[in-house]
Amino acid sequence: MGRQINLKSSGEVQKMLEANQIVAATLAMLTDKIKPGLTTLQLDMWAEDFARQQGAVPAFKGYRGFPGSLCVSINEEVVHGIPSERVVLKDGDILSIDFGIKFKGFYGDSAVTLPVGSISANKQKLIDVTKQSLELAIDQVRVGNRINDLSRAVQKYVEGHGFSVVRQFVGHGIGSQLHEAPEIPNYERKQRTPRLVAGMALAIEPMVNVGTYDVEVLKDGWTVLTADRKPSAHFEHTVVVTEGEPLVLSRLLN
Ligand code: MG
Ligand code: MG
Repeated sequence: MGRQINLKSSGEVQKMLEANQIVAATLAMLTDKIKPGLTTLQLDMWAEDFARQQGAVPAFKGYRGFPGSLCVSINEEVVHGIPSERVVLKDGDILSIDFGIKFKGFYGDSAVTLPVGSISANKQKLIDVTKQSLELAIDQVRVGNRINDLSRAVQKYVEGHGFSVVRQFVGHGIGSQLHEAPEIPNYERKQRTPRLVAGMALAIEPMVNVGTYDVEVLKDGWTVLTADRKPSAHFEHTVVVTEGEPLVLSRLLN
């Protein structure tokens, strides 16, 4: 039996929009700064300061003991990399940054993968395919569709381009909790999955590997990396189901 899916009122969606716009602005700020030579701890400090200036509280810091505000995952690291003064960005790296905050009682959560300097064609393809797979999942966020429709959209597109989707980590509902029901896998399941209803808020987050979908967790207890050490990318948006078009709360408004 799945846990209860919390539907959000329009007032709650408005607060979630504010929270997610702070996340989006933070990621945009970091995107402008990324360059070789920076440490991942510097990025973490910029993200935390920026969010706190707007009255938001970093959501990941202290979550089950995670030490940073920002997850920073380089190349073969999939998700949950720990910011460090010893990790320096190099030309040719790809960097996934995942940021979450709490604001007015509600969470925002979004992630992007960015090039550091000049990257290989295959890393660029990985970024492009992962980003597009998220857009295709968002296109499926319609009343009456099921979670499997999102999952299938990601898997079909990713595998059609010769890459694989991570099985061990999935997207999630979001709201007054960072992680709520339902789970949102990036692969289709052979079971009936929840039907989408207006007011559901979903953090959709494809994690895409160049090689095997198998992952391992480092001895630090957090950093997830590909089993074959080939690169991985990650994009995430927080999206609300409406009677019409999907509402992408973490897409930066002007
Ligand atoms: Mg996230
Ligand atoms: Mg998430």
